[in-house]
Amino acid sequence: ASGYSLMRDPRHNKGLAFTEKERDAHYLRGLLPPVVLSQELQEKKMMNIIRQYTVPLHRYMAMVELQETNERLFYKLLVDNVEELLPIVYTPTVGEACQKFGSIFKHPQGLYISLKEKGKILEILNNWPERTVKVIVVTDGERILGLGDLGCQGMGIPVGKLSLYTALGGVCPSQCLPITIDVGTNNEKLLDDEFYIGLRQKRATGKEYADLLQEFMCAVKQNYGEKVLIQFEDFANHNAFELLARYSSTHLVFNDDIQGTASVVLAGLLSALRLLGGTLADHTFLFLGAGEAGTGIAELIALEISEQNGKPIEENRKQIWLVDSKGLIVASRKDSLQDFKKPWAHDHEPIAELKNAVEALKPTILIGTSGVGKQFTKEVVEAMASLNEKPLIMALSNPTSQAECTAEEAYTWSEGRAIFASGSPFDPFEYNGKTFIPGQANNAYIFPGFGLGVIMAGSTRVRDDMLLAASKALVSQVTEEHYEKGMIYPPFKNIRKISANIAAKVAAKAYELGLASHLPQPEDLVKSAEKYMYSPVYRSYR
Ligand code: NAP
Ligand code: MN
Repeated sequence: ASGYSLMRDPRHNKGLAFTEKERDAHYLRGLLPPVVLSQELQEKKMMNIIRQYTVPLHRYMAMVELQETNERLFYKLLVDNVEELLPIVYTPTVGEACQKFGSIFKHPQGLYISLKEKGKILEILNNWPERTVKVIVVTDGERILGLGDLGCQGMGIPVGKLSLYTALGGVCPSQCLPITIDVGTNNEKLLDDEFYIGLRQKRATGKEYADLLQEFMCAVKQNYGEKVLIQFEDFANHNAFELLARYSSTHLVFNDDIQGTASVVLAGLLSALRLLGGTLADHTFLFLGAGEAGTGIAELIALEISEQNGKPIEENRKQIWLVDSKGLIVASRKDSLQDFKKPWAHDHEPIAELKNAVEALKPTILIGTSGVGKQFTKEVVEAMASLNEKPLIMALSNPTSQAECTAEEAYTWSEGRAIFASGSPFDPFEYNGKTFIPGQANNAYIFPGFGLGVIMAGSTRVRDDMLLAASKALVSQVTEEHYEKGMIYPPFKNIRKISANIAAKVAAKAYELGLASHLPQPEDLVKSAEKYMYSPVYRSYR
């Protein structure tokens, strides 16, 4: 290939880091100024450029541009500066990017499958340049973070998630495929937006929707085989639960909003027990929000308690309560509840207000998964603090604007006694001379390592036991030193080591369950995970 096209291929471009020899061998002479930079210096320069932007969206755009011009440098930045850049390529900034996607859109990333492509999905998959695909993240854009229906502009999410698969989990970028399925949008603002990039129609539902997804699922399996991991991302809950139920026995599917969230939050809870004392079974849980995240977490908690105490899961669900937009979920509402809420309809009189539910049920742990900001009011947090010596409060709704309360509010209103974690990051907060480090229950702790484990083992199915294994692997990475600072999650800067450990435990579970197809089982799974991981360091071209 000519030097000119080499420079324009993001997968191979090194910019000023092409060596003298490479410049000679690949017809690059004259196309570059004389200087040869190291990748480290390029990285330093790019970080300087990115830090100059004070608007987060501009940092996001600079990162996207780098990804499209020099992929290895993009991943080098992300791997080495994960704590700083995660909030840019993922929540909260990615949310804003999706909202404004139409107007900032320059080059398409990923694959778009709309209703127009019905009957031709297999052909379209063949338009993608890579033949070997190991992970697909797919959205239909209906519930992007806590921001609602962003239609086709939801593409920022699969793109962002897959860049984390690579940076945090080490899955090779060429093996990652972001897909947006466009069945329309019910977002009037987007339908009226002249720069909207998607189909200008209301969402298809019912059979039309199910048929397109069925075609998609079959085409993916036919094209990439049984061992491609399909991660459903940010589907509205009515479709999310149904797709997961329908395809989990025929495909390798994983829903990060339900299962990944459950696994990362369970890890936070298990780890918080070190600070709170007791076992999970000793606690009473109250959720605000009974959707994908809320019921997914609740179910995994009940499952883990069952593994511990051997009682049937129905029994253990009874200490877990959920509130939805209509109030506490109770038995008298059962007939009108969606199926995924029914297991949580316990006997109690109806309660409309969260604060009253806290007072009546006396939870030790309060978890926000409503997608609605500011619901953990002063009264609610004070009620938790008066009931508990150390109230555990998780405000998980994303992005930051939707958090049920801020770190500052949780610490101040509980007079410094709360253990707090959130979905989007909050800065450390000083209260009465003590510094509190809020935990971030970020799915990015789990899904990259989880996916890597599944891929490494060549697992053909995902099972809940693998989620439990991932949670425990994450907990094992929290040290005494972290607990002393009140942290319930390990720092992100060690994420590749964390991911390797999660991958190893997930793969081991796949082997144990007889689901793994890559035989024989490697002796040291942590080592093989580390070996498998993509390195963003430039290779030399001879
Ligand atoms: P979802 O399936 O749409 O569920 C939202 C739930 O909240 C529904 O049960 C809904 O009630 C309820 N709700 C809405 N408004 C409410 C209100 N004012 N009071 C009480 N309940 C209310 O959404 P999801 O997938 O579970 O996600 C919810 C939020 O969690 C999002 O902001 C998401 O970003 C966040 N999340 C965080 C993490 C993390 O921190 N790692 C992971 C996943 C999701 P109805 O059922 O009655 O409509
Ligand atoms: Mn999501």
